[in-house]
Amino acid sequence: MRLLVTGGAGFIGSHFVRTLLAGGYAGHERTRVTVLDKLTYAGNRTNLPPSDARLDFVHGDVCDARLLRELLPGHDAVVHFAAESHVDRSVHSAAAFVRTNVGGTQVLLDACLAAGVERVVHISTDEVYGSIADGSWDEDRPLLPNSPYAASKASSDLIARSYWRTHGLDVSITRCSNNYGPFQHPEKLIPLFVTNLLEGEDLPLYGDGRNVREWLHVDDHCRAIALVLDRGRAGRIYNIGGGDERTNLDITRRLIGLCGADESVIRRVTDRKGHDLRYALDETRIREELGYAPRIPFARGLADTVAWYRDNPGWWKPVKHRGGSSGPTSEEGNASWTSTRV
Ligand code: NAD
Repeated sequence: MRLLVTGGAGFIGSHFVRTLLAGGYAGHERTRVTVLDKLTYAGNRTNLPPSDARLDFVHGDVCDARLLRELLPGHDAVVHFAAESHVDRSVHSAAAFVRTNVGGTQVLLDACLAAGVERVVHISTDEVYGSIADGSWDEDRPLLPNSPYAASKASSDLIARSYWRTHGLDVSITRCSNNYGPFQHPEKLIPLFVTNLLEGEDLPLYGDGRNVREWLHVDDHCRAIALVLDRGRAGRIYNIGGGDERTNLDITRRLIGLCGADESVIRRVTDRKGHDLRYALDETRIREELGYAPRIPFARGLADTVAWYRDNPGWWKPVKHRGGSSGPTSEEGNASWTSTRV
Protein backbone atom coordinates (compact mmCIF):
# COMPACT_ATOMS: atom_id res chain seq x y z
CA MET A 1 0.00 0.00 0.00
CA ARG A 2 1.10 3.56 -0.62
CA LEU A 3 -0.22 5.89 2.06
CA LEU A 4 -0.31 9.69 2.19
CA VAL A 5 -0.22 11.08 5.71
CA THR A 6 -1.01 14.79 5.99
CA GLY A 7 0.33 16.59 9.06
CA GLY A 8 2.74 13.71 9.61
CA ALA A 9 5.39 15.96 11.16
CA GLY A 10 3.10 16.94 14.04
CA PHE A 11 2.55 15.26 17.38
CA ILE A 12 0.03 12.52 16.54
CA GLY A 13 0.78 12.12 12.82
CA SER A 14 4.48 11.56 13.47
CA HIS A 15 3.70 8.97 16.14
CA PHE A 16 1.51 7.14 13.63
CA VAL A 17 4.22 7.24 10.95
CA ARG A 18 7.06 6.21 13.29
CA THR A 19 5.02 3.29 14.62
CA LEU A 20 3.97 2.14 11.16
CA LEU A 21 7.53 2.24 9.82
CA ALA A 22 8.75 0.37 12.90
CA GLY A 23 6.35 -2.49 12.12
CA GLY A 24 3.81 -1.60 14.80
CA TYR A 25 0.72 -2.17 12.63
CA ALA A 26 0.29 -5.73 11.37
CA GLY A 27 -0.18 -5.92 7.62
CA HIS A 28 1.67 -2.61 6.99
CA GLU A 29 5.19 -4.01 7.00
CA ARG A 30 5.57 -3.06 3.32
CA THR A 31 3.41 0.07 3.31
CA ARG A 32 5.19 3.09 1.85
CA VAL A 33 4.42 6.47 3.38
CA THR A 34 4.42 9.97 1.95
CA VAL A 35 4.19 12.68 4.60
CA LEU A 36 2.77 16.01 3.42
CA ASP A 37 3.37 18.74 5.97
CA LYS A 38 3.56 22.53 5.79
CA LEU A 39 5.94 22.63 8.80
CA THR A 40 4.04 25.33 10.61
CA TYR A 41 5.27 26.26 14.09
CA ALA A 42 3.71 22.91 15.18
CA GLY A 43 5.44 20.70 12.62
CA ASN A 44 8.95 19.39 13.11
CA ARG A 45 10.98 17.36 10.62
CA THR A 46 12.97 15.81 13.45
CA ASN A 47 9.80 14.08 14.68
CA LEU A 48 10.24 11.67 11.77
CA PRO A 49 13.00 9.08 11.27
CA PRO A 50 16.15 10.66 9.80
CA SER A 51 16.28 8.03 7.06
CA ASP A 52 13.90 5.33 5.89
CA ALA A 53 13.57 3.86 2.42
CA ARG A 54 9.78 3.59 2.89
CA LEU A 55 9.29 7.29 3.76
CA ASP A 56 9.08 10.34 1.52
CA PHE A 57 8.65 13.80 2.95
CA VAL A 58 6.88 16.53 1.00
CA HIS A 59 7.04 20.06 2.36
CA GLY A 60 3.79 21.64 1.25
CA ASP A 61 0.36 22.94 2.10
CA VAL A 62 -2.80 20.84 2.20
CA CYS A 63 -4.68 23.86 0.81
CA ASP A 64 -2.55 23.81 -2.34
CA ALA A 65 -4.82 22.18 -4.95
CA ARG A 66 -2.16 22.01 -7.66
CA LEU A 67 0.32 20.30 -5.38
CA LEU A 68 -2.28 17.73 -4.29
CA ARG A 69 -3.35 17.03 -7.85
CA GLU A 70 0.29 16.22 -8.69
CA LEU A 71 1.03 14.33 -5.49
CA LEU A 72 -1.97 12.07 -4.93
CA PRO A 73 -1.99 9.80 -8.00
CA GLY A 74 -0.41 6.47 -7.06
CA HIS A 75 -1.52 6.63 -3.43
CA ASP A 76 -4.02 4.00 -2.26
CA ALA A 77 -5.08 5.65 0.98
CA VAL A 78 -4.87 8.91 2.95
CA VAL A 79 -4.82 9.57 6.69
CA HIS A 80 -5.59 13.26 7.21
CA PHE A 81 -4.07 14.70 10.40
CA ALA A 82 -3.05 18.14 9.10
CA ALA A 83 -4.78 20.88 11.05
CA GLU A 84 -4.33 23.94 13.17
CA SER A 85 -4.82 22.26 16.53
CA HIS A 86 -4.51 24.69 19.45
CA VAL A 87 -7.78 26.01 20.92
CA ASP A 88 -6.17 29.10 22.50
CA ARG A 89 -4.74 30.19 19.15
CA SER A 90 -8.18 29.83 17.57
CA VAL A 91 -9.64 32.11 20.24
CA HIS A 92 -7.11 34.82 19.31
CA SER A 93 -7.45 34.36 15.55
CA ALA A 94 -9.62 31.85 13.71
CA ALA A 95 -8.59 32.53 10.10
CA ALA A 96 -5.88 29.87 9.80
CA PHE A 97 -8.22 27.33 11.41
CA VAL A 98 -10.93 27.86 8.82
CA ARG A 99 -8.40 27.95 5.99
CA THR A 100 -6.52 24.75 6.86
CA ASN A 101 -9.08 22.70 8.74
CA VAL A 102 -12.08 23.45 6.54
CA GLY A 103 -10.62 24.58 3.20
CA GLY A 104 -7.67 22.18 3.36
CA THR A 105 -9.96 19.20 3.97
CA GLN A 106 -12.13 20.11 1.00
CA VAL A 107 -9.10 20.57 -1.29
CA LEU A 108 -7.65 17.24 -0.13
CA LEU A 109 -10.91 15.34 -0.63
CA ASP A 110 -11.37 16.79 -4.13
CA ALA A 111 -7.86 15.61 -4.99
CA CYS A 112 -8.64 12.15 -3.54
CA LEU A 113 -11.67 11.91 -5.81
CA ALA A 114 -9.71 13.04 -8.87
CA ALA A 115 -6.90 10.55 -8.18
CA GLY A 116 -9.21 7.63 -7.39
CA VAL A 117 -7.85 7.18 -3.85
CA GLU A 118 -9.55 4.10 -2.40
CA ARG A 119 -9.60 4.88 1.32
CA VAL A 120 -9.50 8.03 3.48
CA VAL A 121 -9.43 8.43 7.27
CA HIS A 122 -10.22 11.92 8.52
CA ILE A 123 -8.87 12.58 12.03
CA SER A 124 -11.14 14.64 14.25
CA THR A 125 -11.79 15.37 17.90
CA ASP A 126 -14.31 14.94 20.72
CA GLU A 127 -14.45 18.75 20.93
CA VAL A 128 -16.90 18.82 18.00
CA TYR A 129 -19.65 17.66 20.38
CA GLY A 130 -19.36 20.70 22.69
CA SER A 131 -19.39 20.24 26.46
CA ILE A 132 -21.28 17.66 28.51
CA ALA A 133 -22.04 17.84 32.26
CA ASP A 134 -22.93 14.15 32.78
CA GLY A 135 -22.81 10.96 30.73
CA SER A 136 -21.00 10.63 27.42
CA TRP A 137 -21.50 11.22 23.69
CA ASP A 138 -22.03 8.48 21.15
CA GLU A 139 -21.41 9.16 17.45
CA ASP A 140 -25.03 10.19 16.78
CA ARG A 141 -25.00 13.16 19.15
CA PRO A 142 -25.47 16.55 17.48
CA LEU A 143 -22.41 18.69 16.89
CA LEU A 144 -22.36 21.76 19.15
CA PRO A 145 -18.74 23.00 18.99
CA ASN A 146 -17.89 25.98 21.17
CA SER A 147 -14.40 27.15 20.16
CA PRO A 148 -13.42 28.26 16.65
CA TYR A 149 -11.02 25.27 16.60
CA ALA A 150 -13.83 22.82 17.42
CA ALA A 151 -16.16 24.53 14.94
CA SER A 152 -13.58 24.22 12.16
CA LYS A 153 -13.09 20.52 12.95
CA ALA A 154 -16.87 19.93 13.04
CA SER A 155 -17.14 21.63 9.64
CA SER A 156 -14.41 19.41 8.23
CA ASP A 157 -16.17 16.30 9.59
CA LEU A 158 -19.35 17.30 7.79
CA ILE A 159 -17.48 17.96 4.55
CA ALA A 160 -15.79 14.56 4.82
CA ARG A 161 -19.12 12.82 5.42
CA SER A 162 -20.67 14.68 2.48
CA TYR A 163 -17.95 13.35 0.14
CA TRP A 164 -18.96 9.83 1.15
CA ARG A 165 -22.70 10.51 0.78
CA THR A 166 -22.48 12.55 -2.44
CA HIS A 167 -19.50 11.06 -4.25
CA GLY A 168 -19.21 7.61 -2.65
CA LEU A 169 -15.67 8.35 -1.39
CA ASP A 170 -14.66 5.66 1.11
CA VAL A 171 -14.02 7.92 4.09
CA SER A 172 -14.24 7.20 7.83
CA ILE A 173 -14.05 9.88 10.53
CA THR A 174 -12.42 9.41 13.93
CA ARG A 175 -13.14 11.60 16.98
CA CYS A 176 -10.62 11.19 19.76
CA SER A 177 -10.29 12.62 23.24
CA ASN A 178 -7.24 14.56 24.53
CA ASN A 179 -3.93 12.92 23.67
CA TYR A 180 -0.69 12.99 25.63
CA GLY A 181 2.74 11.47 25.05
CA PRO A 182 6.21 12.30 23.69
CA PHE A 183 6.83 14.91 20.95
CA GLN A 184 3.76 17.03 21.86
CA HIS A 185 4.30 20.75 21.31
CA PRO A 186 4.94 22.58 24.61
CA GLU A 187 1.99 24.91 24.00
CA LYS A 188 -0.37 22.10 25.12
CA LEU A 189 -1.27 21.56 28.80
CA ILE A 190 0.82 18.52 29.78
CA PRO A 191 4.06 19.40 27.95
CA LEU A 192 3.72 23.07 28.94
CA PHE A 193 3.45 22.17 32.61
CA VAL A 194 6.15 19.48 32.50
CA THR A 195 8.64 21.76 30.75
CA ASN A 196 7.78 24.67 33.06
CA LEU A 197 8.41 22.39 36.05
CA LEU A 198 11.72 21.23 34.56
CA GLU A 199 12.72 24.89 34.11
CA GLY A 200 11.53 26.00 37.58
CA GLU A 201 8.68 28.11 36.17
CA ASP A 202 5.11 28.59 37.49
CA LEU A 203 2.16 26.62 36.13
CA PRO A 204 -0.54 28.94 34.70
CA LEU A 205 -3.75 27.06 35.52
CA TYR A 206 -6.98 28.26 33.91
CA GLY A 207 -9.78 29.29 36.32
CA ASP A 208 -10.53 26.86 39.14
CA GLY A 209 -8.91 23.90 37.34
CA ARG A 210 -12.15 21.90 37.46
CA ASN A 211 -12.45 21.38 33.68
CA VAL A 212 -12.54 17.66 32.92
CA ARG A 213 -10.83 16.00 29.94
CA GLU A 214 -10.50 12.36 28.97
CA TRP A 215 -6.80 11.61 28.43
CA LEU A 216 -5.59 8.94 26.05
CA HIS A 217 -1.99 8.02 25.26
CA VAL A 218 -1.06 8.90 21.66
CA ASP A 219 -0.02 5.29 21.04
CA ASP A 220 -3.55 4.04 21.84
CA HIS A 221 -5.03 6.72 19.56
CA CYS A 222 -2.76 5.78 16.67
CA ARG A 223 -3.45 2.05 17.06
CA ALA A 224 -7.17 2.84 16.82
CA ILE A 225 -6.54 4.90 13.66
CA ALA A 226 -4.72 1.94 12.08
CA LEU A 227 -7.72 -0.28 12.89
CA VAL A 228 -10.09 2.23 11.28
CA LEU A 229 -7.84 2.55 8.23
CA ASP A 230 -7.85 -1.23 7.71
CA ARG A 231 -11.34 -2.24 8.80
CA GLY A 232 -13.50 0.87 9.34
CA ARG A 233 -16.63 1.27 7.29
CA ALA A 234 -17.23 3.96 4.69
CA GLY A 235 -19.25 6.94 5.93
CA ARG A 236 -18.84 5.76 9.53
CA ILE A 237 -17.76 7.87 12.51
CA TYR A 238 -15.70 6.24 15.29
CA ASN A 239 -15.25 7.80 18.72
CA ILE A 240 -11.86 6.92 20.21
CA GLY A 241 -11.95 7.27 23.97
CA GLY A 242 -11.51 4.96 26.87
CA GLY A 243 -8.90 7.13 28.47
CA ASP A 244 -8.97 8.51 31.99
CA GLU A 245 -11.23 11.40 33.03
CA ARG A 246 -9.22 13.95 34.97
CA THR A 247 -9.66 17.54 36.06
CA ASN A 248 -6.93 19.94 34.99
CA LEU A 249 -6.17 20.43 38.70
CA ASP A 250 -5.65 16.68 39.13
CA ILE A 251 -3.29 16.60 36.12
CA THR A 252 -1.40 19.57 37.54
CA ARG A 253 -0.98 17.91 40.96
CA ARG A 254 0.20 14.63 39.39
CA LEU A 255 2.80 16.46 37.29
CA ILE A 256 3.98 18.41 40.34
CA GLY A 257 4.38 15.08 42.18
CA LEU A 258 6.23 13.45 39.29
CA CYS A 259 8.63 16.41 39.06
CA GLY A 260 9.20 16.67 42.82
CA ALA A 261 7.80 20.22 43.15
CA ASP A 262 5.07 21.59 45.44
CA GLU A 263 1.75 23.32 44.86
CA SER A 264 3.13 26.80 45.39
CA VAL A 265 4.06 26.75 41.67
CA ILE A 266 0.37 26.85 40.67
CA ARG A 267 -0.59 30.31 39.37
CA ARG A 268 -4.30 30.80 38.70
CA VAL A 269 -4.94 32.72 35.49
CA THR A 270 -8.11 34.09 33.93
CA ASP A 271 -10.12 31.29 32.41
CA ARG A 272 -10.10 30.65 28.65
CA LYS A 273 -13.06 32.33 26.91
CA GLY A 274 -15.88 29.83 26.38
CA HIS A 275 -13.89 27.10 28.16
CA ASP A 276 -15.72 23.76 27.84
CA LEU A 277 -16.33 22.14 31.21
CA ARG A 278 -16.20 18.45 30.34
CA TYR A 279 -15.73 16.07 27.40
CA ALA A 280 -16.57 12.35 27.59
CA LEU A 281 -16.88 9.81 24.78
CA ASP A 282 -18.84 6.58 24.47
CA GLU A 283 -16.49 4.41 22.40
CA THR A 284 -18.69 1.28 22.32
CA ARG A 285 -18.79 1.27 18.50
CA ILE A 286 -15.05 0.98 17.91
CA ARG A 287 -14.71 -1.57 20.73
CA GLU A 288 -17.47 -3.78 19.35
CA GLU A 289 -16.82 -3.38 15.60
CA LEU A 290 -13.04 -3.24 15.52
CA GLY A 291 -11.93 -4.78 18.82
CA TYR A 292 -10.23 -1.59 20.03
CA ALA A 293 -9.23 -1.17 23.65
CA PRO A 294 -6.68 1.23 25.10
CA ARG A 295 -3.61 -0.45 26.59
CA ILE A 296 -1.59 2.20 28.37
CA PRO A 297 -2.70 2.94 31.94
CA PHE A 298 -2.76 6.67 32.60
CA ALA A 299 -0.37 6.65 35.59
CA ARG A 300 2.29 4.76 33.62
CA GLY A 301 1.78 6.76 30.42
CA LEU A 302 2.04 10.06 32.28
CA ALA A 303 5.18 9.02 34.18
CA ASP A 304 6.80 7.85 30.91
CA THR A 305 5.84 11.13 29.24
CA VAL A 306 7.42 13.20 32.03
CA ALA A 307 10.55 11.02 31.78
CA TRP A 308 10.67 11.59 28.01
CA TYR A 309 10.61 15.39 28.41
CA ARG A 310 13.23 15.17 31.18
CA ASP A 311 15.48 13.12 28.87
CA ASN A 312 14.91 15.17 25.70
CA PRO A 313 15.50 18.89 26.39
CA GLY A 314 17.27 19.00 23.02
CA TRP A 315 13.89 18.44 21.36
CA TRP A 316 11.62 20.75 23.35
CA LYS A 317 13.84 23.67 24.36
CA PRO A 318 14.35 25.00 20.81
CA VAL A 319 10.66 24.46 20.04
CA LYS A 320 9.54 26.28 23.18
CA HIS A 321 12.03 29.15 23.16
CA ARG A 322 12.13 29.90 19.45
CA GLY A 323 8.35 30.12 19.38
CA GLY A 324 8.34 26.63 17.92
CA SER A 325 9.26 27.35 14.32
CA SER A 326 11.11 24.35 12.94
CA GLY A 327 11.17 25.19 9.30
CA PRO A 328 10.02 27.61 6.67
CA THR A 329 6.32 27.82 5.90
CA SER A 330 4.94 27.75 2.39
CA GLU A 331 3.56 30.93 1.01
CA GLU A 332 -0.19 30.98 0.62
CA GLY A 333 -1.23 29.75 -2.80
CA ASN A 334 2.32 28.88 -3.78
CA ALA A 335 2.23 25.60 -5.62
CA SER A 336 5.97 24.99 -5.39
CA TRP A 337 6.98 22.17 -3.10
CA THR A 338 9.93 20.01 -2.31
CA SER A 339 10.10 16.27 -1.82
CA THR A 340 12.85 14.50 0.05
CA ARG A 341 13.42 11.01 1.33
CA VAL A 342 14.07 11.16 5.07
P1 NAD B 1 -0.14 19.26 15.73
O1 NAD B 1 -0.49 20.71 15.80
O2 NAD B 1 0.92 18.72 16.63
O3 NAD B 1 0.27 18.86 14.24
C1 NAD B 1 -0.39 19.38 13.12
C2 NAD B 1 0.53 19.16 11.91
O4 NAD B 1 -0.18 19.64 10.76
C3 NAD B 1 1.83 19.93 12.00
O5 NAD B 1 2.91 19.09 11.61
C4 NAD B 1 1.65 21.08 11.01
O6 NAD B 1 2.87 21.53 10.43
C5 NAD B 1 0.72 20.44 9.99
N1 NAD B 1 -0.07 21.43 9.25
C6 NAD B 1 -0.76 22.49 9.74
N2 NAD B 1 -1.34 23.19 8.75
C7 NAD B 1 -1.01 22.54 7.59
C8 NAD B 1 -1.30 22.77 6.22
N3 NAD B 1 -2.04 23.83 5.83
N4 NAD B 1 -0.81 21.90 5.31
C9 NAD B 1 -0.05 20.83 5.67
N5 NAD B 1 0.28 20.60 6.96
C10 NAD B 1 -0.20 21.43 7.91
O7 NAD B 1 -1.53 18.51 15.97
P2 NAD B 1 -1.82 17.08 16.62
O8 NAD B 1 -2.05 17.25 18.07
O9 NAD B 1 -0.81 16.13 16.13
O10 NAD B 1 -3.24 16.78 15.96
C11 NAD B 1 -3.33 16.06 14.71
C12 NAD B 1 -4.80 15.88 14.36
O11 NAD B 1 -5.47 15.19 15.42
C13 NAD B 1 -5.54 17.20 14.18
O12 NAD B 1 -6.44 17.05 13.10
C14 NAD B 1 -6.31 17.37 15.50
O13 NAD B 1 -7.50 18.10 15.30
C15 NAD B 1 -6.59 15.93 15.86
N6 NAD B 1 -6.77 15.64 17.30
C16 NAD B 1 -5.83 16.05 18.21
C17 NAD B 1 -6.00 15.71 19.56
C18 NAD B 1 -4.96 16.11 20.59
O14 NAD B 1 -5.19 15.89 21.79
N7 NAD B 1 -3.80 16.65 20.21
C19 NAD B 1 -7.10 14.99 19.98
C20 NAD B 1 -8.04 14.59 19.01
C21 NAD B 1 -7.86 14.91 17.68
